[in-house]
Amino acid sequence: MEFNYTVPVTQPLYGGANFTYSDLSWGEKKWVDWYTYMGNPAIATGVMSFVLHELVYFGRCLPWIIIDAIPYFRKWKIQPGKIPTAAEQWSCTKHLLLSHFTVQLPQIWLFHPVAEYFGMRTHQVPFPDWKTTCWQLFWFFIMEDAWHYVAHQALHYGPLYRHIHKIHHKYSAPFGLAAEYAHPLEMIILGVGTVGGPILYTSITHNFHIVTMYIWICLRLFQAIDAHSGYDFPWSLHNIFPLWSGAEHHDYHHMAFTNNFSTSFRYLDFIFGTDDKYRAYKARLREAKSGDRAALEKQLIEQTEREGIEAERIAEKKWFGSKKSD
Ligand SMILES: [Zn+2]
Ligand SMILES: [Zn+2]
Repeated sequence: MEFNYTVPVTQPLYGGANFTYSDLSWGEKKWVDWYTYMGNPAIATGVMSFVLHELVYFGRCLPWIIIDAIPYFRKWKIQPGKIPTAAEQWSCTKHLLLSHFTVQLPQIWLFHPVAEYFGMRTHQVPFPDWKTTCWQLFWFFIMEDAWHYVAHQALHYGPLYRHIHKIHHKYSAPFGLAAEYAHPLEMIILGVGTVGGPILYTSITHNFHIVTMYIWICLRLFQAIDAHSGYDFPWSLHNIFPLWSGAEHHDYHHMAFTNNFSTSFRYLDFIFGTDDKYRAYKARLREAKSGDRAALEKQLIEQTEREGIEAERIAEKKWFGSKKSD
């Protein structure tokens, strides 16, 4: 389908500076075309953001759904035998769609005016150079991880856990789709870490383009979904880059209901000692390498799960005061 409109040679409306359309990269031309076609930058950003989020989220979950259905991959499952059923995945998908359309859509719609208020470039071209983009992404990973580390621990405090974070802990053996399975308030609280970094960066430097925000959101979605996948492959990122957390780190948090509060990296949990139980668990697994590893692994997982259920019960009761928390 062809749209009947004329692409001007220069773009005073959508250009931050004078430039020639033919000098732009392919991506920049498409960017200008999109905003020119839509005619309203706020609507253009809103539609693009929501569609991008849905495509990337479910697009990234799909390979994990397929992997769950193929027995060959079971040897890399972190909690062996805990394969989500089709009914569980469908129930989770329905919850996600409801949450995306009722909770996330209004937030995404509000993003354009907020971004412009802080001076973020949206419809303008050209895009930033790749070095600037990499530097910004690096900081967003660091900042989001730190925010998540603190906020996630707060969400494990009695009343916050009972009323908010408990929903996300429905699955003690998570799967890709479970990444955003959470209470609306949790989406907002933890979302501050994702959106706050770019907003803070923009307000300080006044040099930020929303296209970098989109790259960041895509990477963050990949990180969150992969961390919930339930699989640890020899080629998983943390086996190449040991500071990366990945599924092997976050899966333990769901199984044991304690430790490993970060998202992307392992160093904060290591520095503050909130990975002690996890490291002891890994050490016991390693010790068993020469013996019957599968039997010990099964026994350890069952024991960790039992302790996790008990820890969750105690955390929930903290609402009533410490005397009743036993
Ligand atoms: Zn948690
Ligand atoms: Zn999780």
